[in-house]
Amino acid sequence: GVVAGGAIIVRRMRRTTSELMASEAQAQHNVLHDAMSGLPNRAHFMQKLREELSACVEQRELGDVFVAYIDIDRFKVVNDTLGHHVGDELVRQMALRLRKSLPPGDFLSRFGGDEFVLMRRSTGGKEAADMLGRQIMTLMSEPFVISGSNLDVSCSCGISWGPEQSEDPGELLRRSDIALYRAKQRGRMRYRRFTRD
Ligand code: GH3
Ligand code: MG
Repeated sequence: GVVAGGAIIVRRMRRTTSELMASEAQAQHNVLHDAMSGLPNRAHFMQKLREELSACVEQRELGDVFVAYIDIDRFKVVNDTLGHHVGDELVRQMALRLRKSLPPGDFLSRFGGDEFVLMRRSTGGKEAADMLGRQIMTLMSEPFVISGSNLDVSCSCGISWGPEQSEDPGELLRRSDIALYRAKQRGRMRYRRFTRD
């Protein structure tokens, strides 16, 4: 009886331990991911950008780190006319589409709202930046189907790349955001590279 009781206690302790480990892993995941889209969040993105950028600063032959700041055009209109739940579904579908269609090495994150930020390790400076911008525009040109209806949405995108444009992750992100702002000023469905002027 004592032996059997001991075995039960050991089994229970093992189960409790593995449950604790699972919930710890879940908590760790939650800290780094956006609940709605399942994508990495801003903190996760910045951590990754810091790592990749400093590797490229130390070894210039590794090439470039591209940052593409993507924002849905007139997302508020979607929310206001079709409802918040349609806006939410659009964000989820957009996350899925980008994740499925872009190369597996691209690091896609959601910063919140209608903002997505992508990091790509590549070479080729401004030509490669343009290619990334065109790729994103092409992916967004197909309508989304939400509750059986076609939803035509567009997005705008700003692109910067390091170490050339900055060796600092925060500054590099800021520059892609500036490029996005300039893309928006020119109209919908645009991408722009960051330039100094
Ligand atoms: P612009 O064309 O200039 O990008 O304007 P916009 O209407 O897309 O609006 P903007 O990007 O400035 O703001 C995003 C809006 O997204 C603001 C807020 O009402 C809404 N929003 C933020 N988070 C969520 C969310 O989780 N779900 C939904 N449905 N809407 C959200
Ligand atoms: Mg927007």
